[in-house]
Amino acid sequence: MNVHDSEKMSGILKAEGYAEAANTEDADLIIFNTCSIRQKAEQKFRSELGRIKLLKSKNPLLKIAVAGCIAQQRGRDILKRNPHVDYVFGPQNIHKLSAMLTTNAMVCIEDNPEIQHTDLPAERKENLKAWISIMYGCNNFCSYCIVPYTRGRERSRPSQNIYEEIHELADKGFKEVTLLGQNVNSYNSDTNFPGLLRKIEAIKGVERIRFVTSHPRDLSDELISCIKELPKICEHIHLPLQSGSGRILKLMNRGYTYEDYIEKVRKLKESIPSIAITTDIITGFPSETDNDHSITIKALRSIEFDGIFAFKFSSRQGTKAAEMDGEGGRMAEKITSQRLSEILGLQDDITLRKNEALKGTLQEVLVEGASKTDKGKITGRTRTNKIVNFEGNESVIGRLVNVEIRMAMRHSLEGRLTSQSQ
Ligand code: SF4
Repeated sequence: MNVHDSEKMSGILKAEGYAEAANTEDADLIIFNTCSIRQKAEQKFRSELGRIKLLKSKNPLLKIAVAGCIAQQRGRDILKRNPHVDYVFGPQNIHKLSAMLTTNAMVCIEDNPEIQHTDLPAERKENLKAWISIMYGCNNFCSYCIVPYTRGRERSRPSQNIYEEIHELADKGFKEVTLLGQNVNSYNSDTNFPGLLRKIEAIKGVERIRFVTSHPRDLSDELISCIKELPKICEHIHLPLQSGSGRILKLMNRGYTYEDYIEKVRKLKESIPSIAITTDIITGFPSETDNDHSITIKALRSIEFDGIFAFKFSSRQGTKAAEMDGEGGRMAEKITSQRLSEILGLQDDITLRKNEALKGTLQEVLVEGASKTDKGKITGRTRTNKIVNFEGNESVIGRLVNVEIRMAMRHSLEGRLTSQSQ
């Protein structure tokens, strides 16, 4: 979401005649697009903001802006504590960027329930795959999460507006779109999410459709049928579980039980046997016991996700979980670290096993370019979102090809381009 917000800021600036500087020393404007989902991201931002202060004394014309969720949360306080900052604006006020730059200093953090960012020109770095915001904000208030406070209540873009944006991208040669929202499953405009997918499926030139993120509670049978029936929808779903323990899920205010979750996974696997399922896990949530942790481990063993993002709980001021944390629920750092490494170690084995099962299969790959990790090879992703490196010439970049999987690693696959693709 933040990456795409940055693309929109770049788009606005480009229309205003700005061009990207080669480095911060040459820049006349520096925007920090911040994330406040975890403490670590916030710390990183603070040290960068301190470092950049020096540049302002060298170049008095330099303007510094703080955008994103930290800007939304801290607002005016950022200007007070950091006199070298000129502008502060939250994710709901990106459209005010050009107007802001005509002033000396400004803070734009008001909630903007009407804004749908329908007309912000995004400056995309890639020309094959594109992110598309289909909605903004979130109504779920998971107890650990700051997003509903920073990005506001849920708003969905009109489907025709999304359709037109994707149509334009397809005309420019984009092949893959990823629909973005905090909870795409609750997209609700003139149609629901499956309705939107059907509309996008009809766009000529788009070959693959992905979406992120799906809230397990709102994953409907209609959506599962869509993934099964619509050929352009890739067989991959990111479905954050967060914890296997029913007690912790309740404290997290996730709105589903582990049993509900398992039932959705069963339906997904039954309808789309090749589907890859990935998830998020938070470990060390306030009051998490050894038993809660063991239940999560058991869940990971039984579901066998294709991949996970696992993090230590990070207390965010203003959330319900921060209160639980303060009331004596905080886990010892050592225990949380042990739990995290057990989760990651187990998942590494599962991911490798799942990737090894693909050896000998033919996979459709959208070729993205030269491999960054494997010199001399080209790279792309399967429909299930796995990275595949293989030998081939650059003429296949941007095309869908068939690759026979020869080798499996934890984070990528290696294969051979089949003759019918060349
Ligand atoms: S669904 Fe929960 S975790 Fe996701 S953005 Fe909304 S409140 Fe945060």
